[in-house]
Amino acid sequence: MKKILIVEDEDKIARFLELELVHEGYEVVKKYDGRSGLEEALSGDFSLMILDIMLPGINGLEVLRRLRKTSDLPVIMLTARDQVMDKVNGLDMGADDYMTKPFAVEELLARIRLVLRKRQAAGEEAASEPEHIHQVRNLILDDAAHTVKYKGMEISLTNKEFQLLRELMINRNIVLSRETILSSVWGYDYVGETNVVDVYIRFLRQKIDDAVGEKMILTVRGVGYVIKDE
Ligand code: CA
Repeated sequence: MKKILIVEDEDKIARFLELELVHEGYEVVKKYDGRSGLEEALSGDFSLMILDIMLPGINGLEVLRRLRKTSDLPVIMLTARDQVMDKVNGLDMGADDYMTKPFAVEELLARIRLVLRKRQAAGEEAASEPEHIHQVRNLILDDAAHTVKYKGMEISLTNKEFQLLRELMINRNIVLSRETILSSVWGYDYVGETNVVDVYIRFLRQKIDDAVGEKMILTVRGVGYVIKDE
């Protein structure tokens, strides 16, 4: 089921949207301010976010700006009739579409379907593109920039730690043996302690698990190591 996040402080509108969306077969989560909306958007596996601009705390445009640093979650902005500049800014900052309040819910539903369809088509096209971004849950490794980020926060790694993490991430959900890791990260001709993998796994865990707040890298006894999507 497709999950939609509604970030809207006007409870009446939020509840009305929820009713309509649930009726259309979507799963819905509601948030009433920018900060918790952003947090939810970054942590949940949503298909789309409906984001009001006028929000308490951080406003919708700022939520969008921060979201776009790490996420391409489709976003439809809600704007008031007199917020023409916000509309322009929102689209500039990567919103997929916008609706001006008050709006007919049928139109919003149509736009949601359109945005989801477009994204799906783009996703299918992009599947063969050069893959320099590797993501497991909220952990993002960027080959091009040589960075690792968790929810937008950079985690500083040594070169070997980076390569080891990369190996685990591109093979997510697959248990890799020490030998496999050793040959792909250290090279076939590596001569040295064979427990070097365990040592570096330990280093990596200290940094990654610490930043993430839970165990990302799992040990499979007698087999090796794995990073899991769920
Ligand atoms: Ca509002």
